[in-house]
Amino acid sequence: MSRDALFSAEGAASIQRCGSCGAEWPFTLTASACPTCDGLLEVIHPHPAMHGAALLSRFGGRCCTHHGSEASGVWRFRELVMPGEGAVVSHPEGNTPLMHRASIAEYAGVSSLMLKHEGRNPTGSFKDRGMTAAVTHAVRTGATAVACASTGNTSASLAAYAAQAGLPALVFVPEGKVALGKIAQALAYGARTLIVKGDFDDCLRLARESSRELGVYLANSVNPWRVEGQKTIVFEMLQQLGWQAPDWIVLPAGNLGNTSAFGKALRELHALGLITKMPRVLSVQAMGAAPFAHAFDTGFTTHEPVRAATVATAIRIGDPASWDRAVRVIRDTNGAVLAVSDDAILDAKAVIDAAGVGCEPASAASVAGVRAARASGLIGADDSVVAVLTGHVLKDPELVVQYHEQMRPVPPRANKPIPIDATVADVARVLQRT
Ligand SMILES: *Cc1c(COP(=O)(O)O)cnc(C)c1O
Ligand SMILES: [Zn+2]
Repeated sequence: MSRDALFSAEGAASIQRCGSCGAEWPFTLTASACPTCDGLLEVIHPHPAMHGAALLSRFGGRCCTHHGSEASGVWRFRELVMPGEGAVVSHPEGNTPLMHRASIAEYAGVSSLMLKHEGRNPTGSFKDRGMTAAVTHAVRTGATAVACASTGNTSASLAAYAAQAGLPALVFVPEGKVALGKIAQALAYGARTLIVKGDFDDCLRLARESSRELGVYLANSVNPWRVEGQKTIVFEMLQQLGWQAPDWIVLPAGNLGNTSAFGKALRELHALGLITKMPRVLSVQAMGAAPFAHAFDTGFTTHEPVRAATVATAIRIGDPASWDRAVRVIRDTNGAVLAVSDDAILDAKAVIDAAGVGCEPASAASVAGVRAARASGLIGADDSVVAVLTGHVLKDPELVVQYHEQMRPVPPRANKPIPIDATVADVARVLQRT
């Protein structure tokens, strides 16, 4: 097989290929890195037996299924996620709405802005799409325990899928840096929750070493099957758009796993002739955690990790693991990377929340990014744009309450709770002021 081939022969089995040295490994390899050179692995599927419109109508036909794995917005696309027979660990996930809200579009300055709300997944973030694939791979390869490092959502998701599969789960989270809703989920779903004295990057190193030395299945975003599952955000979005690609797809970027997944999805759809236009991918980082944006500004001639600091804990990552994969995505899609301030993220979040949509802080980086790219002229007023909201508003309730009640100076969109006496007169006074 040629080193750059996106698919192998029809009827072959899915394999894992090293993105660095090109070595090919079987489906059953459970190491998350190349055993020869430690490079990142990429899954290569056999070319689907159906082509073009026939394949699209097969995907479409599964949309109305209400039971079994085909009811999932991930497994509906299984030819391009994990073909072949076997157990599937599914909640089901996906089937998230693609929505338009005039107030958010106006704020961003792009009239056709659509929002793909991945916070509507079973555990409240897009991580479920990757986790259903990774835990399914873990079960099919006989894993006895699973582990991940996480800024929170990955551990919430792994905890839920491991519980469903009946596998013990170990999650490594940085002390004091995980939003309340996420740690609550990991505990509730029964994961062994290890609070590490260190940051996310320390957690990832520890999880990788533990997996290598103790033989635990590693379900981090370096796991190539997570990438396979997360590709379906793009598949489902395009299906909802009648397979008409938008000009831009915009997403928040931390560890760069999702950026990598979006690029792989687009490359495959393009190679299969299922889309004719390649959308441009815009990855948005928080200014305090923007090594990838800095590198983009130098044409990717630099690669310097940072000590990350941002209110958006899900993208509080200073040394992204999927770097090389993501560089390729930005190059292949003529994409871009930019950084937005925490103030811009919180302001965009307040607009998204006030529209009744709601999202967690990191998710709002996508809309803040559209607004910044529109202001700089990178995105045109008439461009079609899909921004991905990656997580649910209830993931980080502490920050929401802080923003509206305690932050000084008082943020422009603060919605302060109003103490009143238990009288209708007080209620009337409030109504008058509204
Ligand atoms: C994980 C996550 C991100 C960042 O995705 P990466 O793949 O790490 O770049 C963004 N937002 C939310 C809500 C997340 O959970
Ligand atoms: Zn290798």
